[in-house]
Amino acid sequence: MRAMVLREFNTPLILDGEMKTPRPGPCDVLIRVKACGICRTDLKISKGLYKPEVTLPHVLGHEFSGVVEQIGSDVRGVEIGQPAVAYFYITCGKCRYCLSGEENVCSEMTRPGFEQFGGFAEYVAMPAASLVPLGEGISFEQAAVLPDAVAVPYHAISRLGKLERGESILIVGVGGLGVHAIQIAKVLGAQVIAADVDEGRLEIARGLGADQVVNARDTDRVDRIRSLTEGYGVDMCVDLVGTPISYNWALDATRKGGRYVVVGYAANQPLAVDTVPFHLNEWKLIGCRGSTKQDLIDAVDLTRRGLIKPIIDKVYQLEQANEGMQDLEAGKILGRGVLQI
Ligand SMILES: [Zn+2]
Ligand SMILES: [Zn+2]
Repeated sequence: MRAMVLREFNTPLILDGEMKTPRPGPCDVLIRVKACGICRTDLKISKGLYKPEVTLPHVLGHEFSGVVEQIGSDVRGVEIGQPAVAYFYITCGKCRYCLSGEENVCSEMTRPGFEQFGGFAEYVAMPAASLVPLGEGISFEQAAVLPDAVAVPYHAISRLGKLERGESILIVGVGGLGVHAIQIAKVLGAQVIAADVDEGRLEIARGLGADQVVNARDTDRVDRIRSLTEGYGVDMCVDLVGTPISYNWALDATRKGGRYVVVGYAANQPLAVDTVPFHLNEWKLIGCRGSTKQDLIDAVDLTRRGLIKPIIDKVYQLEQANEGMQDLEAGKILGRGVLQI
């Protein structure tokens, strides 16, 4: 099969036309990959920031859709030719997290594109249980955007933050996840305030339904957000940046008792918790990792019903993966860049 292979960290991927096609085990399916999203995590992996989980040579790509090409001997209820999107956390199914619907923090998990070869390739073998069937009306490219750029903000806003109709939410960072977070929060009936440092992105946020936008570089950003929320601050903030640059002001724009969900992350950039304001304000600081499988099912459903529109900025062919990664790194991609395979 054809795959784009990472042979050395910090070097471009190389097209290999003769990679071994994976063989599905008894409980697995072989997926003919049709589209795969390009994620900032792929950039981090290619730079060697996910050692030791990621070993070389490696095939990137954890956000992919395709059709079922082969079925393992013990698999039931899956048809050859079924279009599907992959839930990319392959979990143990036995631990207390898996059993309580928190499989996104299963300690035994492996992931295509991390510990295993991923979707920058024609085929991936994975457990049949990882598939989420695609209904009518969702293209493979749109589906490839769902596992990360839609399901993750959905997990943050709906499952973790429990956003309620009529509440106010501040979304910090109008990037690949932010453009979908805005749509999700609107569907859930919230007053949506979007913040970013880039005026062009704020314009896009308005177009996607944000009720108000705030330039994160403005010195009066916190006062503005308070003035938009009757002086209180927002009920909930979703921080898609996750560094002191966002946290150091956006927490202050969150009301007393409000929820602050940290989705973005960066090594060696700790967020300071001064216990006095936390005590006085009863803020709830919440971490967020990926999504549950049910979140992905919900993301597929919201898309199928036309309530969320996956934002695809650019489509590349498999052999253009390096170009796609460079465009993402250079800030040229708004929603998602997607490989067509
Ligand atoms: Zn991703
Ligand atoms: Zn588990």
